[in-house]
Amino acid sequence: MFDPARPYSFHIELTDKCNAGCPMCPRTLHLDRCRTDRSVVSNVELGLADFQRHFTPDLSARTAEVIFGGAYGDPLAATELLEVVEHLTDHGVRVAIATNGSLRKPDWWARMGRAMARTGSRLELHIDGLEDTNGLYRVGTFYDKIVENAAAYIETGARAEWHFIIFRHNEHQIEEAFRRSRALGFEGFTLIDTVRFGPEGRFPYQMPDGKMRELEAPTRKSADFRLDGGEIRLASREDAAEAAAPPVRPIEGIDCKSAARNSPYISAHGQVSACCWVAGSGEESSFFAGHRLGPERYNLRSRPLEEIMLDEPFASLYAAAWKADSLATCRHKCGRMRRNRRNAL
Ligand code: SF4
Ligand code: SF4
Repeated sequence: MFDPARPYSFHIELTDKCNAGCPMCPRTLHLDRCRTDRSVVSNVELGLADFQRHFTPDLSARTAEVIFGGAYGDPLAATELLEVVEHLTDHGVRVAIATNGSLRKPDWWARMGRAMARTGSRLELHIDGLEDTNGLYRVGTFYDKIVENAAAYIETGARAEWHFIIFRHNEHQIEEAFRRSRALGFEGFTLIDTVRFGPEGRFPYQMPDGKMRELEAPTRKSADFRLDGGEIRLASREDAAEAAAPPVRPIEGIDCKSAARNSPYISAHGQVSACCWVAGSGEESSFFAGHRLGPERYNLRSRPLEEIMLDEPFASLYAAAWKADSLATCRHKCGRMRRNRRNAL
């Protein structure tokens, strides 16, 4: 599954901590004031010592990119994010960070920008609206603070992209958000269609002050928009139909995104998994147990990272399971291409 002869692209959850309470996030009790679900979050994190141990000059030289995102936490909430990024970019590694952007102060962001700029690293700021709407989904975050942080970061010459999930309550602000992104110096603007709505297109939740609200599916999709002469505009029907056609590249019925990108996933507990979708799932546990593989063998606090990646089940057992079509997560995520759709403008 993972190939030491090709550059690695690691996907790492630095921490399961977060300052926000986005209603559709698996860490959030959306019907209980968007509080944190303590049954899935244990406030763990990876730190500088873990990266110094595993990202040696040798492994760093064979690493194309380290992407900090994750299932349960925001990398910005990790105590040593800045030190970890400085270590990696000192060793020539390109980094990508996906965050809500609302923690820390502008001087911290300026230091982060200087570290990121060294290797052309990229920040994905998830801002789903403007001052009156971003906090309706990114509960507990503040638009003005995010923009202040982003400005200090971009000022250093480091790269940043604005990522925007479309809802009914923010779709009328897409054009204005795009204009602001360009004025602030963001180099990319990506619209995202979430797949987390059920067929009814509604998602009730409770704000921290007790007020009940409902997210509604948007009337626009990311593919409805086009970049035209430096402005964003609604696409024609023909443009939209072309963009909506999904790429289909089946390999034995499963097109493993993680194998294609040579991209292992590492959780904030230090567990190495095939990808973020199977990480920590009941199916992953049964798969490992079925092959008598104990979880301690896959923790980077017990063994060198690359040794784990080249061992089973990654060496051959996953490929055999895809052939037998025995992993429902793989079929669902990489068989039918059912993912959030994106349109990078
Ligand atoms: S910012 Fe990310 S990790 Fe935090 S609650 Fe929102 S989706 Fe979850
Ligand atoms: S869900 Fe399965 S097939 Fe898809 S990236 Fe993860 S391990 Fe690969």
